[in-house]
Amino acid sequence: MAKKVLITGGSRGIGAQCARVFAEAGWEVYINYNKSEEKAFALADQIGATAVKADVSDFTDCVKMLEITGGLDLLVCNAGISQQKLFTKTTPADWRNIFSVNVDGVFNCCRAATPYMVYNKRGSIITISSMWGQVGASCEVAYSASKAAVIGFTKALAKELGPSNIRVNCIAPGVIDTEMNSHLSKDDMAVLADETPLCRIGTADEVAKTALFLASDSASFITGQVIGVNGGMII
Ligand code: NAP
Repeated sequence: MAKKVLITGGSRGIGAQCARVFAEAGWEVYINYNKSEEKAFALADQIGATAVKADVSDFTDCVKMLEITGGLDLLVCNAGISQQKLFTKTTPADWRNIFSVNVDGVFNCCRAATPYMVYNKRGSIITISSMWGQVGASCEVAYSASKAAVIGFTKALAKELGPSNIRVNCIAPGVIDTEMNSHLSKDDMAVLADETPLCRIGTADEVAKTALFLASDSASFITGQVIGVNGGMII
């Protein structure tokens, strides 16, 4: 029987590429979306997946989503938002908005999914943080703090769920070519590529294939780890 994965924020970018890669590898794929309904359904049609709407910042939505998917073999907590702003201009509402998706969203989905996994004594979770959660980014204090929280969450949950045979790992991407970086100019992207030891921007496919590896039996003794997919920008 095909293994079942739910990818949050699977409508676009890294999440959409994860959906393609897992579908190609024979997984039964559930694509979560919030606003990008058309994209989610088009992708689901294309790859034979199921699209499920839920705002990950809403716990009730996440519980309903898990009722639709049923027990999972893998949860990929990928949905996220970013904001570039001077800290002195960041409002409490900005802070809450970032944390509600990037941190509450991870809690809500994991909290809804783990009872099934613990009951079955099997499963795996992959969270998507960021290299800025590891080292901090100027003008992205809220985003960096939220992604650092995801790393702490991953490590603690890995310790708690290890005895239930559930692995929890984190991917910390560097600069990846998706809509999240569409506010950056070509020149900005060129500078970021220059600052990267591998001299280029990463692709969503490189993140997705790392997720596929972490979900596979090849990674069966890996848990609680933060895997950088950043071209060497953070070492
Ligand atoms: P993206 O292209 O902007 O896509 C973001 C995804 O998150 C969309 O599918 C969006 O779905 C979903 N999302 C946002 N808010 C949501 C909510 N409340 N509920 C459910 N889904 C929600 O971004 P990306 O580059 O693929 O980023 C994916 C993850 O990688 C994020 O966690 C991001 O922080 C992380 N990351 C990205 C980079 C990078 O350089 N791109 C680097 C490091 C880390 P809808 O459109 O359907 O709302």
